[in-house]
Formats: sequence, structure tokens, C-alpha cells
Amino acid sequence: MPDSINPAALPEKCLVVINAGSSSIKFSLFAGATCAALTGFVHGGIELIGSTPHFFADSINGQRLAGHRWQCATSHDDLLGYLIAWIKDTVGPDRLMAAGHRVAHGGFSCTGPQRITADVLAQLQAAIPLAPLHQPHNLTPIAALAAWHPDLPQVACFDTGFHAGNPRISRLYGLPAALTDEGIRRFGFHGLSYEYIAGELPRVDPRAAAGRTIVAHLGNGASLCALVNGTSVATTMGFSALDGLLMGTRCGALDPGVVLYLLQEKKMCAGAIEALLYQQSGLLGVSGISNDMRCLLSSNDPAAREAIDLFVYRAIREIGSLAAAAGGLDALVFTAGIGQHAPEIRARICAQSAWLGIRLDPVSNRAGGPCISMPDSPVTVWVIPTNEELMVARHTFSLTGARDQQ
Ligand code: ADP
Repeated sequence: MPDSINPAALPEKCLVVINAGSSSIKFSLFAGATCAALTGFVHGGIELIGSTPHFFADSINGQRLAGHRWQCATSHDDLLGYLIAWIKDTVGPDRLMAAGHRVAHGGFSCTGPQRITADVLAQLQAAIPLAPLHQPHNLTPIAALAAWHPDLPQVACFDTGFHAGNPRISRLYGLPAALTDEGIRRFGFHGLSYEYIAGELPRVDPRAAAGRTIVAHLGNGASLCALVNGTSVATTMGFSALDGLLMGTRCGALDPGVVLYLLQEKKMCAGAIEALLYQQSGLLGVSGISNDMRCLLSSNDPAAREAIDLFVYRAIREIGSLAAAAGGLDALVFTAGIGQHAPEIRARICAQSAWLGIRLDPVSNRAGGPCISMPDSPVTVWVIPTNEELMVARHTFSLTGARDQQ
């Protein structure tokens, strides 16, 4: 397997988009003469960080262009260094116009995408306590790219940004006002995914785009967003990315009394509770088998069935809640790993949401859509693949003036 690809085969100018997490670092290369024409032409990353990492870069057709395997665990910093060196050697400083980063939290002041300056970076670092498991990993590549190429324009796009305009009432907790003023309120996440779907809706379903739509982003992390006229009005994640739906390893909505009990009666420390709620709960914790929906769907173990039952039950409860917040429902959109690829889960969620006017077409649901509701269904139901990387690329293009350099 080659370590690199032939630079002569690349477009003259491109953008890199980086989505860095704790267990994987994903990247995509985009090119295009206008924001609307931006197209990804290489997608890759480093997976299985923490065990036996491997690097890959694939063409848009899925052809493997480059790859590398490490035989033993290697530090996150060393793996990121490998990726930056690969970008440096393969893309080079002259071809690379800008870098865009998916960043979990914009903090209290960054709502829309931001061109990175020392000031912005300081604000994003100050937001680390608001997203302690995601934000540090999201910010590391910004510093690494700046160390290699100090003049490279960089842009941060936030998962919280799309919900910043939610009505005040939907962002409040029933806590003393002084705490609300300090910033203890709902932020919401997965905003880049919802922004992408909101941008697709006018083409796919104009009635829904102008009306009330619930988007179900069901991946390893999972949440719902209610859109009215393309704008987020409510979402299931809150102050942290723990709230709302059952997820791969996160518990979703939990009575805060449980946390007090764990602290006071079980004498668990904050770190142990954090690990429990973020990494040991959800589908994994309930089933005791796996956080992976594919694995649970193929299991006959009653514990796997119960975890799936709870996943579906939590989803239908929250769909009812968001339909109330939106004042009704015109469309439901499924996206992300489970939403796009698990017809059984879609069917169960739709069957238990039939009271809202959802009538699923089982044949198109099995076929994967895009439209999976019956022609006479009052609520249209869609499967729309999300594309958070493209959203980051578009914002990066717009904010850096990359268009002027094409
Ligand atoms: P992330 O939040 O890490 O981006 P993804 O959007 O990739 O997550 O979704 C991962 C989830 O999607 C996993 O639970 C995985 O099992 C599930 N998934 C992916 N493909 C399928 C499939 N064909 N059938 C059922 N579940 C699937």
C-alpha cells in the first residue's frame, strides 16, 4: 500500500476539512470554483486510535489511494503529526487554500463559523469545560496546521451554532436566573448536520422546507432537531451532548437525582460518573454487548432486544415532544449511520409515531428511500444522507475568500 498519492493528479487548489475526535481523525479534500460547486475528491482519516490505528485516503469512488498501518498503539499527537505530514507532502502549501474544522462547541459567544485568530482560539479553548471529551481533540489540528503553515487561513464551524437562534424559552432550564445568566442553558449539537439537511429540504420537499420538520440524526451520537421554515426551534441535546436520545455509549436524558445518588450514596467521583454517562451507558450499557446497532440487530440476546426497544422508545417520546415544540409535523427526516442504514429502526419509530400522521411505505423503506412514506401520508418521511464535511467546506470557502484565489 503506498503512503501517498501522486500530487500531479490533484486539483490546483483545494480545501482540507478536518473532523478530529478521540477515536478517529477524519479528513476530506474539496475543490470547486464556487461555494455551490465544492466537491469532495479525497476522503480519509485515521481510525482505531488507541488500539491498532490505520491511516487511509480514498478517492470519491472509494478507490484506496494511500494507506498505512501501525502495529501498536501510537499517541494521538503522533498520529495527527502523520496526517499533517501527509497533507504537507501530498497537497503542499501552494495548493492548499484553507482548512476548515468541525468544532463541538462555540462557547458563549461564537455562534456562526469563525475565521481562526488568536482571540477566537482562546475563546474556543475556554469552552473546553463545556465539551470536555470533544473540544480538546477538535482544537489540536488547528495548532498542528498553524505550526506547519502559519499563513494558512483556518475556520472553525460549531455543532452548537445552528441552534443559537432557538427561542429563549426552549433554551432555558428551570434553574435560578443567575445560573442561566452564567450560561447554564441548552446549546444543542449536531448543528452542521441539521444545517445541511435544512439546505437540502427546499429541493427535496418544498412543503416541509416551509413547514415543520423533525430531523432524526441517529448515529453513534444521536439527537433530534425541530425545524420550522428551515430554522432550528428545539433540539434534544442540551447543555452537553449527553441529553435527549439513547446513544451508542451515552445515556441520554437522565433524572439529575441519579447523579446525586451516584455521588452521595455510591461515593462515585466526578471522573467515574463522567465515564459512566459518556462511555459506558447507552446501547452498550443497556445491552452489555455492544454500542454498534448492526451488532445488536443481528443478536438474539434479550438484552440486545431491550437496548433496541429503549432506543426506539426514547426516539418516539422525543419526536412527540419536538412535534409539540414545532406546533405540529409536516415531515420526518432520518439521517446518520442508523437513520440512513437501519430500515428496521426507521419502521419501528414510524409505526409508533403513526398518531402524528406518519404512514410508512415498507417497500421504499427497505429500499432506502429517499421518500419512504405512502403517497397519501399526511407527514412525508425521508432518508437523506447528511454531509457535515461539505457544510464545513462551504463555510470555510465563504469565510476565507478561497473563492478569490481559485
Ligand atoms: P458517528 O456518530 O460516530 O458519526 P455514524 O453516523 O457513523 O456515527 O453511525 C454509527 C452507527 O450507525 C452505529 O451504531 C452503526 O452500527 C450504525 N450503522 C451503520 N450502518 C448500519 C447498518 N447497515 N444497519 C444498522 N446500523 C448501522
